Amino acid sequence: MTLNVYALQTGSINMPLDALLAGEEGRITVPVPCYLIEHPKGSLLFDSGMHVEMQTDPRSRIGKLTDEFNIEFKQGEEVAAQLALLNVDAEKIDILVNSHLHYDHAGGNEAIPNARLIVQKREWDAGREPDLIASNGYQQHDYNHGHDLELIDGEHDLFGDGSVVCIPTYGHTPGHQSLKLTLGSGRIVCLCGDACYLRRNLDEMRLPSVVHDKVQMRESLERLSGLRKLGAQIFYGHDPEFWATLPAWPRRIA
Ligand SMILES: [Zn+2]
Repeated sequence: MTLNVYALQTGSINMPLDALLAGEEGRITVPVPCYLIEHPKGSLLFDSGMHVEMQTDPRSRIGKLTDEFNIEFKQGEEVAAQLALLNVDAEKIDILVNSHLHYDHAGGNEAIPNARLIVQKREWDAGREPDLIASNGYQQHDYNHGHDLELIDGEHDLFGDGSVVCIPTYGHTPGHQSLKLTLGSGRIVCLCGDACYLRRNLDEMRLPSVVHDKVQMRESLERLSGLRKLGAQIFYGHDPEFWATLPAWPRRIA
């Protein structure tokens, strides 16, 4: 299958490295990716980055998380503007897949109003359950926009041809998922989301300091490790060194 795939960046976050790799000291600045996938049957966005208001008033969006997370996000870096640079109208995106509902993955959902939103059912349920909203740091204003909603359970083939498949990678949050792309050449690309922040998480099989479910997250890392051993190209969720290896803008990766 011929897919056109672009890696978009909606700003960066400066944060404690420990939040990505438990036990480490210091801070790190990481990219906030999302991905445009053009399939003959429709256009798909995997994650939507941060809400545009994060550029001017992050505290109004994520509250005291701003004590630890410095948001570096400039005008024109929001998802709708990034899509416009590729001559894609955000209002015409057909499918929006969220890896999970955190502010740096679902924050731009409001800007993709007419897409069918596809999320794991267990993630969506967690995003409506007060205890899990609090413990997972969800912000309901990121994802409650009345999208046409399709809730899935586990692996899900989005176009029915095996080219774009949601794969469950639970653990970071209750219903986190990654996206596996199989390209015409047989090349396999796995967009991890936060199932694996950095290459080092996978190389060293190490978890972040804050995890919803450590056992599940370790299983998800094992799954990604298995894909990598089979030759899949792993797109780590927030790895600045990996990000720097991608082609220059418009970062077309397939
Ligand atoms: Zn993230």
